[in-house]
Amino acid sequence: MDLILFGPPGAGKGTQGALLAARFGLHRLSTGDMLREAVRAGTELGRRAKGIMDAGELVSDDLILAMVRDVLQSDAATNGVVFDGFPRTTAQAEGLDALLLELDRPLTGVLVLRVDDEEIVRRLSGRRGCAQCGVIYHIESDPPARAGVCDRCGAALVQRPDDTEDTIRRRLAVYREQTEPVLAYYRRAGVPVREIEGTGSIEAIQAELVEVLA
Ligand code: AMP
Repeated sequence: MDLILFGPPGAGKGTQGALLAARFGLHRLSTGDMLREAVRAGTELGRRAKGIMDAGELVSDDLILAMVRDVLQSDAATNGVVFDGFPRTTAQAEGLDALLLELDRPLTGVLVLRVDDEEIVRRLSGRRGCAQCGVIYHIESDPPARAGVCDRCGAALVQRPDDTEDTIRRRLAVYREQTEPVLAYYRRAGVPVREIEGTGSIEAIQAELVEVLA
């Protein structure tokens, strides 16, 4: 099973993707996480990507497709992949098609999480993450016991550089202009595309995703 979890930034793709991956034994492939890791590690890719990411723009299709190719050809991908934050352009979708064709694994479908823009700005501008263990909080709806400190490991919480209001709005505009057309591409190709309301409890949304997959 190779699935695409689709939707604007802040729709909950990371959270829901991790749950789906655990439930079905899939590898969660988040191009955003891979890029942030490259930035942290200070690799050539990270140096090239950082400014683009901080501005809310898209990293080049060639760099992204090379990253995805490496993972798809590795053992991690054997049981199937849930793609999170990829493909983000029609060119990436075409590149993924070519890769999957090469590997003789058809795409199962696209699951879309729908969330309106103001809710996204609220979610992302209040999002804080633990730099050490990765737990995500929200300063209003899911705050840690002590402001700025991770409940699980005690490390400092940080805000992603692209989670400021101006950059969130830019990311939303990029999503509308460059990423949403990918859905029309898949519909034209006859790939199943299913839309789910992305607001509500994490458990309820997960249950809906699982039901749609069944
Ligand atoms: P995300 O964590 O998915 O919101 O991604 C954070 C940032 O990484 C995006 O705003 C882009 O700058 C970059 N990025 C992640 N995935 C892609 C992709 N598939 N194509 C281009 N840029 C990406």
